[in-house]
Amino acid sequence: MINKTGNIQTFLGCDAAYEDAKIVLFGVPYDSTTTNRPGTRFAPAAMRSESYGLETFSPYQNADLENVTVYDAGELEVPFGRPEPMLEAVENAVAEILEDDKIPLMIGGEHLITLGAVRACAAKYPDLHIIHFDAHTDLREEYLGEELSHSTVMRHCLRLVDASKIYQFGIRSGTKEEFQLARTLGEKPVPQDVPIYLTLDLDVLDPSALPGTGTPEAGGWSFLDLLETLLSMKNLNIIGCDIMELAPNYDHSGISTATACKILRELILILTAKEK
Ligand code: MN
Ligand code: MN
Repeated sequence: MINKTGNIQTFLGCDAAYEDAKIVLFGVPYDSTTTNRPGTRFAPAAMRSESYGLETFSPYQNADLENVTVYDAGELEVPFGRPEPMLEAVENAVAEILEDDKIPLMIGGEHLITLGAVRACAAKYPDLHIIHFDAHTDLREEYLGEELSHSTVMRHCLRLVDASKIYQFGIRSGTKEEFQLARTLGEKPVPQDVPIYLTLDLDVLDPSALPGTGTPEAGGWSFLDLLETLLSMKNLNIIGCDIMELAPNYDHSGISTATACKILRELILILTAKEK
């Protein structure tokens, strides 16, 4: 049979129509400012393909992707090497999804992309809070003279969201100045009932669990550490979310991509937990 629905390959179980969907998934295959090893642009397509190796059912949450409504919008078209137009395209896409009362769920790409989404979320939700999982503080002012870099993304977010409303998890790398600035950020636990944007840089995981990333940083979390923390956030009001920095081609075993897919499955089920 010929495909008449438009979606040729979606992430596992994410085949709802846009109108019916609570979550809108999309990829941003962009990695032009990555400081160490490029390749995150290949993550969204690799994750869609690999996702079929997973079960739709999560034994951790006793929930199934088949019972949630997610539309996979495919890849956002963005110009390579030009961060501002890329950020504008992301901001517009996220604003549109929020306008339709749906949750944007973005697959990167490099971490700078998150700034476009945060711009749109902060415009709609003045009381926006940010949860940031990462090995790196991402609080640099600039990197090699470039202000728009994946290593500066949270510094830019600080201009949109008050420091007390940003919560970092898993950080183990940054300059002395970045760590000083990080001490001014929000104190945990994260409050309930405030609008939250959750950004997940996959290098928060230990490189032994996820070697396929541009800036691997030893001393990180296990899959279960991350899962447990994410599950503890199930009752928060997450209005937007992303999963960034998988660089599939650095892991020839494919484990990194499979792990990223499993995390995304759990994230989707967390985002829709209130639905049931
Ligand atoms: Mn990052
Ligand atoms: Mn990082």
